[in-house]
Amino acid sequence: MPIVPDTKDWTWVLERACADCGFDPEATTYEAVPGLVRDSAVRFAEVLRRAGVEDRPDESTWSPVEYAAHVRDVCLIMTHRLDIALSAAEVPGPAIGGYDTAVTVDDGIPMFANWDQDVTASLENYAAQPSADVAAQLTTAAETAARAFESVPLADRARVARRSNGSQFTVDTLARYFAHDLVHHVHDVRG
Ligand SMILES: [Zn+2]
Repeated sequence: MPIVPDTKDWTWVLERACADCGFDPEATTYEAVPGLVRDSAVRFAEVLRRAGVEDRPDESTWSPVEYAAHVRDVCLIMTHRLDIALSAAEVPGPAIGGYDTAVTVDDGIPMFANWDQDVTASLENYAAQPSADVAAQLTTAAETAARAFESVPLADRARVARRSNGSQFTVDTLARYFAHDLVHHVHDVRG
C-alpha cells in the first residue's frame, strides 16, 4: 500500500492531549515552544545518524529521512505563517514544491493557502534526499523558527489568522500546534 494522504484535521490537538505522543496543549506554555522545537531537531539529527534511515518501516509509513524532510519544511512553513499572522499580509515565503505562499486577507484577518504535505513530499522527492543534508537543513530551519516564535512580543500572540478550511488560529495556538507536530513526528521515528 502506498503512503496514505494525511487529510485529518489536526486542530483537535489544541483541545486535548495526544494519545500517541503524549503532547498536552494545556500543559504546554508558549514560552516552552522554542525549546521543544530545538529539542525535536536535536532528536531528529540523532535519529538520522542511525543506519537504514532511508528505509520505510513498511510501505505505508515514511522513512525517518522522509519524516525529517517533512519536519524541516514544517519549520520553514510555520515561520512563514507566523510572519503572515504578524503582518496580516502576503509576505515572501520559502520556495518549496507544492507550497502556495499566497494569502487572502478578509476583514484584516489573513488566510493561509492550503498545504498538501503529500504533494510536497512527492515534488521534493523527500525519499531521495541525503540524510546528512536533511539533518543540517532541519537544524537551521528549527533554529530560525524557534527564534521567530520567541521574539514575538506578548501583545502580538493574540493576533489571528485562518487556515484554508476556515479554522481560526492565534499566534499562541499556532505555536502549540507547531510544537505538537514536531513532538509527534519525533515519536513517529522513535527519536
Ligand atoms: Zn501527537
